[in-house]
Amino acid sequence: MGALRLSGIGRSFGDFAAVSDLSLDVADGEFVTLLGPSGCGKTTTLRMVAGFISPDRGEIAFDGERINAVPPHRRDTGMVFQSYALFPHMIVADNVGFGLRMRGMPAEPRRERIAESLAMVNLVGLERRRPGELSGGQQQRVALARAIAIRPQILLFDEPLSNLDARLREKVRLEIRELQRRLGITTLYVTHDQAEALAMSDRIVVMDAGRIEQVGTPDEIYRSPATRFVADFVGAANIVDGHSLGEGVFKTKVGTLRTLDRNVPAGKPVTLIWRAEDMQRAGAGTPDIHDARVSGVVYHGGFVEVIVEVAGELLRAQLPSDTPPRVGDRIGFVVPAERVRLVGGS
Ligand code: ATP
Repeated sequence: MGALRLSGIGRSFGDFAAVSDLSLDVADGEFVTLLGPSGCGKTTTLRMVAGFISPDRGEIAFDGERINAVPPHRRDTGMVFQSYALFPHMIVADNVGFGLRMRGMPAEPRRERIAESLAMVNLVGLERRRPGELSGGQQQRVALARAIAIRPQILLFDEPLSNLDARLREKVRLEIRELQRRLGITTLYVTHDQAEALAMSDRIVVMDAGRIEQVGTPDEIYRSPATRFVADFVGAANIVDGHSLGEGVFKTKVGTLRTLDRNVPAGKPVTLIWRAEDMQRAGAGTPDIHDARVSGVVYHGGFVEVIVEVAGELLRAQLPSDTPPRVGDRIGFVVPAERVRLVGGS
């Protein structure tokens, strides 16, 4: 069991509120990611769960039991840090066994648990090395093995992949998720990297300025952002203000667009969003967006990212790379109604 409940927790430093009135339920075995820009309060939230700092307000509960006053080493959490935080003078096996020794586990079962944990992160054979004799990726695995060795109820990750290069980051994130699933350990994961959050999480909590903006599955967050901030922070979005003409038709500066939602009364101001991949180059029919001037084309292999300017607004499109437009071209776009969303159902 490892359900986590945060009820209205807050923490200020002086008169600066780092986290305000944050409530969140994480189910047993669930992988939940706190995602947001630097300084939004992710780490402060994680540190409150770990017990390194205490909330000024609200309650933290594991399996229904309030743990605000329980010290970190009695909370049954395993933590993995960005910096790995390994003990440099200890060999790998002793690093991994550290928490077990602190808990008084006798030598023989401890050896077994260390071997099992190292096997889970594919580090067999490196038991006697010191951290300084390992690559960054191997050190990160030792940190992960150390966190899971104690079989915690809750795993906490603070930007664990930031120090790895891009390819290794993708590999290790799959490994972490696979291992977490296999062990079924409830996980709270902190990152500012939206691709990481979308790829790994059961649910994502998008935070800004100490508050939750939206909680949802990766698909909900990507497709139906509740606020302009979420739309902008997650994925490359086109966000344009306008007003309803009724019957699901909306007038904006860049053109007249349609949504499947036909119930917005005429005259109501709205914010519309659609993704770069939702912009289709208009063929023979009438485009929704006319006369867009191409101001940039970036080659990505299978597609090109095209930046266009329309009525003073910059929009992004993803188009096939076989017949890309050129800078200076004037082109039209269709945006299918099922791809255009009202931000926050506005
Ligand atoms: P990052 O991705 O940069 O780590 P974060 O979202 O994890 O950002 P936090 O570390 O939680 O952000 O910090 C939230 C805010 O609280 C920041 O403005 C930070 O400067 C402030 N803060 C955090 N810890 C302290 C502290 N001990 N004393 C004063 N201010 C703090």
